[in-house]
Amino acid sequence: AKRDPGTSYRFYDRHLHVSAGYQLRLEADLRTALRGRELELYYQPRIDLATEEVRGVECLLRWNHPERGLVGPDEFIPVAERSGLIVPIGYWVIEQACQRLQESADLGFPGLVFAVNLSFRQFHDRKMTETIFRIIFNANVDTSLLELELTESAMMHDPEYAQRCLRELNQLGISFALDDFGTGFSSLSNLQHLPISLVKIDKSFVQELGHSADAEHIIRAIISLAHSLQISVVAEGVETEGQLEFLRQQHCDEIQGYYYARPMPWHDLVQFLRSRGQS
Ligand code: C2E
Ligand code: CA
Ligand code: CA
Ligand code: CA
Repeated sequence: AKRDPGTSYRFYDRHLHVSAGYQLRLEADLRTALRGRELELYYQPRIDLATEEVRGVECLLRWNHPERGLVGPDEFIPVAERSGLIVPIGYWVIEQACQRLQESADLGFPGLVFAVNLSFRQFHDRKMTETIFRIIFNANVDTSLLELELTESAMMHDPEYAQRCLRELNQLGISFALDDFGTGFSSLSNLQHLPISLVKIDKSFVQELGHSADAEHIIRAIISLAHSLQISVVAEGVETEGQLEFLRQQHCDEIQGYYYARPMPWHDLVQFLRSRGQS
């Protein structure tokens, strides 16, 4: 296929449904990417609404394709999940995040939380806990600064196994966030039975603020439910002052969104933290 520099980010998207051959090609490319250091983490700050400080960052995967430019996760994670490649990729992400976590303390930003996304597919790996344990042990990081984000779909394949993984990792000090909360198969019992310390309100609700009274009601309800269970709330996809003000009034704990900062490469994040005088 021909390269179109202006839309290189969408390259795979346009062809995604073309053929099985194309899927295989993408899969092979991804394997090469994992071996060849073409994957990179971007970091998006999460701001504490009460202190205005950067509480932590979400690590978001990017693929620096040598010819196609920056490819976003929505384009390749589904393929990585279908092929199982998300398992080794997921471990690479945790490893990389742990390395940056160490580095951030050395740079004078101790206490920064690093949040990493886990795919439902990673819970099919029977060695999940022991592999993650090995990674954090080797990296020698403060596990209380490591947060894993999962969606409720992670619990569907084998709820008992997934629950056990969460418990074991939680005992090591790792905390968990429920991502995209309010979409999909939300089951309130998850909040009660799993070691979840944070929920992330999906950006689809945040972006409806001002356009839909329902979105306001849903966000209010999520925050009050979470707080009554001693669970913190992060709103994602915050882009405007209006959204921010509403969330502040509702005592949302943290926000993440373009309003404060987009996901950025590591060196830009370091600049960002320095410019805010954060330490
Ligand atoms: P997510 O976990 O819900 O991550 C938040 C997404 O919202 C990110 O998209 C982020 O760039 C975007 N976002 C943040 N603030 C705003 C905003 O103000 N406006 C808008 N329109 N968007 C905002 P991104 O980086 O493209 O990632 C998409 C999804 O890919 C993530 O959704 C997550 O499900 C998945 N993903 C990313 N990295 C990883 C990874 O390392 N492992 C796994 N399994 N999934 C990942
Ligand atoms: Ca997430
Ligand atoms: Ca989300
Ligand atoms: Ca998502």
